[in-house]
Amino acid sequence: MTVEKCIIIGSGPAGWTAAIYAARASLDPLCVIGIPRQDPAPVLPGGQLMLTTEVENYPGFPGGVTGPELMEHFQKQAERFGTRIEYDDVASCDFSHRPYTLTLASGATRRAHAVIIATGATANWIGLPNEMRLARSGGGVSACAVCDGALPIFRGQPLAVVGGGDTAMEEASYLTKFASTVYVIHRRDAFRASRTMQARVLEAPNARVLWNRQVIDVLGEQRISGVRLRDTVSGEESTLEVAGLFIAIGHTPATAFLAGSGVELDDKGYVLLRDRTSRTNIEGVFAAGDVADASYRQAVTAAGMGCQAALDAERWLAARGVH
Ligand code: NAP
Repeated sequence: MTVEKCIIIGSGPAGWTAAIYAARASLDPLCVIGIPRQDPAPVLPGGQLMLTTEVENYPGFPGGVTGPELMEHFQKQAERFGTRIEYDDVASCDFSHRPYTLTLASGATRRAHAVIIATGATANWIGLPNEMRLARSGGGVSACAVCDGALPIFRGQPLAVVGGGDTAMEEASYLTKFASTVYVIHRRDAFRASRTMQARVLEAPNARVLWNRQVIDVLGEQRISGVRLRDTVSGEESTLEVAGLFIAIGHTPATAFLAGSGVELDDKGYVLLRDRTSRTNIEGVFAAGDVADASYRQAVTAAGMGCQAALDAERWLAARGVH
C-alpha cells in the first residue's frame, strides 16, 4: 500500500494552512477533511468558520469575509499546490509502529510517515431547538463573542452570555464595550472563572449577573428577541429581552478518534504539545489549531499553528530522509 509522506486530518484554518505549506514543500499531502453531520450539533468540513456569518478579524480582508468563503479560499489555495482531498473521517489511528496507519470511517486504511492532527474543537451548545436554528441562520445566537460581538446588530443592545467559566467572563467583558447591558446567565451561585476574570465582569458598570438561572428557550423568528429563563432554585420562569445570545459553556476537542492511539491529551481531551512546537509525545505526529489550544481559538492563531506543524513535519521527515 502507498505510504504518504504526510497526512493532515482536518480542514479548518489549521488543516488547510498545514496543507498549503506541506504541498509547497513537495510533501504531496493528503488531507482527510471529514464528513458533514448535523447531530447532535452541526459539524462541517471547514470547521467552525462554516457556521459563522461575517468574519471581520481575519487579517487581509479589510471589508470582511464570510466564514464559508474564507474556508473556500483556504481550500483552493491548498489545492492549487497539489493537496489531495479525502472526504472521510478518521475513525482510529495506529501509531505503534511506522509508517503509521489511519483507519477511516469507510473502513479504508491510509498509511503515512507523518501525521498532522488539526481536527479542531466544537463549541458546546445548550441544545435547545431555537438556539440551534438561530445560530445556524445568523439570527443573533453565537458561540464566539470575539468573532461576532462587534457586528453592528449588537451595538448599543442588551446582550446575554451564558456560562460561568473564563470564556464567559472574557466574552462578557469584551461585549461590555459594545452593548447597552451585558447579562451573564449562570446556572449556579458562583463562577468557576479565575478571580481576575470575574472581577472584570463584576466591576463593569453595564454588566449584570443573573445567578441560578438556566436558559430554557430562545425567542424570536428571524432574529433573537429574548430568552426564557428558569430559576434553578425556585423554578420560577421569566423572560429577558436581548438582541444577542453568546453561549460560552465550553468546547469539546475532536479527539475521540485518538482513543488508544497513545497521543497524550490533557484532562479536557486537548492534544498536549511539547516545547512550544507542534510536536506531540509521538514522533512524527504533530497537532495544530483548536484541537491543541483551549486558550486562543481564533482562525488566525489556528492558521499560524498549521504553518508551524507543516514546518515541523517537513524538518522531521527531512531528518529521516523523506523528501
Ligand atoms: P469551563 O471552564 O468548562 O466553563 C464552562 C462553564 O459553562 C461553567 O461555568 C459551567 O457551569 C457552564 N456550563 C456547562 N454546561 C452548561 C449548560 N449545559 N448550561 C449552562 N451552563 C453550562 O469552559 P471555558 O470557560 O470555555 O474554559 C475552558 C478552559 O480554557 C479553562 O481551563 C479556562 O481556564 C481556559 N480559558 C482561559 C482564558 C484566559 O485565561 N484568558 C480564557 C478562556 C478560557 P458550572 O460552573 O456550573 O459547571
